Amino acid sequence: MRFPLSMTVGMAGYILRNKVRPRPEWQVDVRTAEADAANPFRILPDRLPAEGGEREPHPLMKKRFPVVLMLEPLHACNLTCTGCGRIREYESTITERVPLEECLAAVDECGAPMVSICGGEPMMYPQIGELTAGILARNKHIYLCTNGMFIRKRLHEFQPDRRFFFNVHLDGMERTHDLAVERKGVFREAIEGIQAAKAAGFLVCTNTTVYKETDMREIAELFEYLEQFGVDGHQLSPAYGYSAVNDREIFMTREEVHEKFREAAKLLKRFKLNQTPVYLEFLRGERDLPCTAWGNPTYNVKGWKGPCYLITDAHYKTFEELMTKTPWERYGAGNGDPRCEHCMVHCGYEPSAALGVNTTLADSFKMLSWAIR
Ligand code: SF4
Repeated sequence: MRFPLSMTVGMAGYILRNKVRPRPEWQVDVRTAEADAANPFRILPDRLPAEGGEREPHPLMKKRFPVVLMLEPLHACNLTCTGCGRIREYESTITERVPLEECLAAVDECGAPMVSICGGEPMMYPQIGELTAGILARNKHIYLCTNGMFIRKRLHEFQPDRRFFFNVHLDGMERTHDLAVERKGVFREAIEGIQAAKAAGFLVCTNTTVYKETDMREIAELFEYLEQFGVDGHQLSPAYGYSAVNDREIFMTREEVHEKFREAAKLLKRFKLNQTPVYLEFLRGERDLPCTAWGNPTYNVKGWKGPCYLITDAHYKTFEELMTKTPWERYGAGNGDPRCEHCMVHCGYEPSAALGVNTTLADSFKMLSWAIR
């Protein structure tokens, strides 16, 4: 199976329950609500007809609920990677941390069945072992996103669990990866961390950002190299030039993303990719999906970040406020916000695939056979 059975069954049950009984107060269409003219980034409703027309959202778009909580206990990092927006956007709060109790309260408040612990470098969070144990005690699944530099040093603080993955960032083979993270030796240390974690019985997957310059043949070489360590799966994310890191040299347009992922489909066929087949079809330009960023809410030192992991228009004190005050209808390609134009990132679109938005019965079978393969 692609994921542990408990994860597949738990996620499917949670999604079904929430589709049948959605929280009515989260399903409000805020286009009619008063716009915040003081916010320069807010897209005003009167731009909608001119830019994209009054598109009727898919009925499931009206059933909002969280699927994966993106929890950022800190933004500090030991690296300064080229494509990272956090160390730039949160420069003024880079030394701050979300206290352990507050992290766990956010997990409870949100209720999502999966937590992606990210940052910053979460392995620099002093109570990372306790945080992970606390989330597992709440019967949630965890992806701990790390550059891998501290795995060996802090492995003793964790217990192997079928609901817990180390998700190690690797953008290519040694030379390429060390260039992307702007420091020599990072690839080697990450590989040693992967080996140590696998030897101790942990689940480990990798996460690769695909830039304009990425050579997909090298990614195939990387996945082949990782096979010897028994890595449990791979994620591929198309890089996107949102405001904090906007640099047209390395980030791609939608057409360029389609091209890269068509190449990936040929070269990476035999490897275990963690992305759903529906999302991969979207990345290859074979189908359209709407943005469902509300499915992957982000919590960090400033509170609940809206509308999504990438762009920031507001931070809210409560999860309820994030869900009810964010004008969700205005985001996503074609809905009027120019920042969303070329975005295809997983935090906006993978929930759409998982939730079955714009999908057919044949897609449901495709998803099922992918999950159990
Ligand atoms: S399309 Fe969605 S995920 Fe992408 S930048 Fe816009 S709101 Fe964020």
